[in-house]
Order: sequence, then structure tokens, then C-alpha cells
Amino acid sequence: MPASTILFLKYYHHATRDLILFCMLFVFGVIYMSITEFVLHRSPIQSMIYRYVTRIGVFMDYVAFIMLISLTGGTNSPLYPIAYLLLLHASLYWSFTGAMVATCMVIIGYIGVVLLVDGGFMAEELPRHLFNFAFTIMMGVIGGIIVARERKHFVEKGIFENLAKKDYLTGLYNHRSFQEQIRETITNKRYFTLIMGDIDYFKKVNDRYGHQVGDSVLRTIGSLFDSVIPRAHGSAFRYGGEEFAVILYTEDRLLAGELMQQFREKLKALEFGSEDEKFHVTMSFGATIRVKDQRTAELVAAADALLYTAKEQGRDRLVWG
Ligand code: GH3
Ligand code: MG
Ligand code: MG
Repeated sequence: MPASTILFLKYYHHATRDLILFCMLFVFGVIYMSITEFVLHRSPIQSMIYRYVTRIGVFMDYVAFIMLISLTGGTNSPLYPIAYLLLLHASLYWSFTGAMVATCMVIIGYIGVVLLVDGGFMAEELPRHLFNFAFTIMMGVIGGIIVARERKHFVEKGIFENLAKKDYLTGLYNHRSFQEQIRETITNKRYFTLIMGDIDYFKKVNDRYGHQVGDSVLRTIGSLFDSVIPRAHGSAFRYGGEEFAVILYTEDRLLAGELMQQFREKLKALEFGSEDEKFHVTMSFGATIRVKDQRTAELVAAADALLYTAKEQGRDRLVWG
């Protein structure tokens, strides 16, 4: 942006109309970039908003590119190589097809600029135009192939990494992920709440209704944790079997207690089993807040002991330590 401003003011600022257009483009660019940066900063990478904003960005870049070269000497503009960045940008977010569409768009835009700004195709300029066309197509095809291939590897790597972190049955993060996350939280956040939970009389559920029904209870509990605990507040994990761990990024007992109360009430309201034989499930929890410099093992042991107390006191409750 600073480079194009200097270039425009020094070499191409001939008419007031161009200056107005350039200022409009500049203001549009600043507003557009601020809004997108703000939105992207606030949205997770997998979210729909992130996908739409990054994808629409390619069109915005195209419009800005055509205006910019029109204002800085047409197809002779020293800023024309920005077209190559545009092609890479398109292939990054729209894959190989995107690179091809962007290549066609750049060439159509180029022809438009020749006709409207350069004053038409001149015989002596044809070799330069042909070279630009050839180079643009080459960049589009080669760039498209390379970026699309790398993108595929990247996406696949992300899928495998995610699979390794998640528990197949409940969709929650697994034990390994719990160990990583608690270590990370100790480093970054220092003080937080750790809750260990266990389903009450789960063996009876299995014995009476079968393991399939038991599995469906585990699945539903997984979804319930996901819906009750917002990402920004913490994460739930399948610690093992029918035991769960929750890390909440707060040392406020009231806040943590409120979230867990919500979870317990929603769990109680759920009905499992068939039309003929319905049943309810409860869970017991032990909760501890890391306020000193305890290690992971000490924290888990403390929460586990409190969970045991909850079971002893009659189950279906949360006991704080
Ligand atoms: P308590 O209230 O004391 O926790 O009683 P409980 O019956 O839940 O405790 P116990 O530890 O005796 O039983 C846990 C049961 O959880 C035993 C095991 O079969 C079951 N379980 C563990 N993992 C799974 C699973 O992946 N699927 C199913 N269906 N059951 C599981
Ligand atoms: Mg158990
Ligand atoms: Mg149990």
C-alpha cells in the first residue's frame, strides 16, 4: 500500500479524477482490511465465517488490483506482478479450479485495461502483451498445481492430527489430549479448575440394557459436554472408560459451579432407553482449583479423591476441594 501510494503520487497523479479514485481505493482498502483482520482474528480457522471471508477476499483483491493498475499506467504498471500474488491467493483458498478461474479473470481484466486505459492493442505492444498472457497462464497453472498439492497435504495432516486427539465414541478429546492440554494450561494460564467426573452405576446400565445402549449414553454425554462448555471457557475430555475430565479456564468457583450445574441439570432431563423402558443417568464430580503450583499428577489425584467422596456421599453431586 505505501509503495503504490508513492508510485501513484510521484508518477501517475495527472488528473483530479484519478486522485479521487485513488483515495477511494485507499480508504476502501483500509476499511476492508481492518474489518477482515478483526473478523478473522475473532473466528476459529474451521468456522464458516473464516472460510467465507478468506474466499471472498480473493474477489476483493481482484477488484482492487484492476483499479490499481488502471491508475498506475495500465498494463505497463510496475504493479502488474501483483497479479501473480492474486493467482497464488486464489489457488490457496479455491484450489486448482480457483487458480484457473483467477487466471481467466486476470486475462479478461488485462484485456479490459488495454482497451479502456492503454487505448487499445497496438501492433508494437503485442509481444509484451503476449508475454504477459503466457507468464500469467504459466503462473496460474504451476502455482495452482503446487499450492493445491500442498494444501491437500496440509488438510490431510490436520485431519489425522485431529483424529489422533479425539475419542472415537464420544467425539471428545482423548486422554492423551488431556495430558497435553493440562500441561499447556499450567504453562499459559497457571490457575484454573480441574473436574473429574464418573457416571453413576454405569455397570448396571450395561448389565441391564446392553453395551450398545451403554455406548449411546457415553455418546450423548460427550455431545452434552460439547454443548454446555463453550470453547472459550474450557474443554471436556474422555479420561477413560466412563470417566471424564473437564478443564475450565477459571479460578472462580461460582462460574465453574454454574457451568457444571447446567450440565448436571441437562443430563438429568435426558431420557435413555426405549419407549417401554426409559431410564435416567447421573454423574458424580470432584472439582479442584489450581491455586498453588501443583503438578498435573497432584491435581488429578486431588480431583479423583473428591470424586470418590462424591460417590461415598451418595452420588449425583459435585464435591469441591
Ligand atoms: P459407580 O457409581 O461407583 O461409578 O458405579 P459404576 O457401575 O459406574 O462403576 P464401575 O467402575 O464398577 O463400572 C464402570 C463400567 O463402565 C464398567 C464398564 O463395563 C463400563 N464401561 C467402561 N467403558 C465403557 C464403554 O466404552 N462402553 C460401555 N458400554 N461401557 C463401558
Ligand atoms: Mg468408573
Ligand atoms: Mg461409574
